[in-house]
Amino acid sequence: APLVSLRGVGKTFSNGTVALARLDLDVRPGELLSLLGPSGCGKSTALRILAGLGEATSGAVDWPGAAAGADHRGEIGFVFQEPTLMPWATVADNVWLPLRLKGVPRRAAMPRIEEALARVGLASFAASYPRELSGGMKMRVSIARALVTRPALLLMDEPFAALDEITRFNLNDDLVRLKNELGCTVVFVTHSVYESVYLSTRIVVMAARPGRVVAEIAVDEPPARD
Ligand code: ADP
Ligand code: ADP
Repeated sequence: APLVSLRGVGKTFSNGTVALARLDLDVRPGELLSLLGPSGCGKSTALRILAGLGEATSGAVDWPGAAAGADHRGEIGFVFQEPTLMPWATVADNVWLPLRLKGVPRRAAMPRIEEALARVGLASFAASYPRELSGGMKMRVSIARALVTRPALLLMDEPFAALDEITRFNLNDDLVRLKNELGCTVVFVTHSVYESVYLSTRIVVMAARPGRVVAEIAVDEPPARD
């Protein structure tokens, strides 16, 4: 069974913009699914609805494996295009945030904060401030923050789009490694064909006016890079 499904999801914003027509999408356990399509085709809208950050105007979001009425958002990690770190807080305190919101004291959270930072290669930067880090490193902190709750589902909205090509290249590799280590399910929004082919186990191609799925491509295994 899918981890989560969008069933006939439509979204019309209050200004009349139809962002999604009637989107059907299954997210399968353990996959790295790319939502690929041109800017404005409704990828972010679909991702936000999956995350519970936005309401669908029509259709339904189903979590077949979850108990009725349960709040699923605790099991979701979300990585935004901008790293959105708190500039006044250390790297460790930024990563602590999702656990802090669940009431986990800093001392109790520390082993998990350290583990999350180690996974993204920033173990020695716990006491640093965001301004001391490069763009790629800030994005890694943002990924550590999304992983610290050990979510079953990691949603990423064009996370590397604002970074230079070499940094993006490195982070793509790290994401594949992390996903394999953690065994979590990832939905990755991108408008880069290269990124979707390199990263994904499956690609769903969307088109605009109004947002809908036009193709689905299975990628057996992400290709090895020479
Ligand atoms: P993508 O992520 O594929 O670039 P989006 O989901 O961000 O696409 O946007 C889909 C469409 O909905 C676009 O036409 C966009 O301008 C519009 N849109 C997105 N958010 C809003 C909003 N809050 N209010 C009105 N229109 C919006
Ligand atoms: P990324 O490694 O995320 O691609 P950048 O390429 O923007 O980051 O790195 C900019 C600078 O920060 C480089 O000098 C790089 O060596 C340094 N840097 C990046 N990650 C680390 C790290 N984990 N430890 C030490 N230095 C790092």
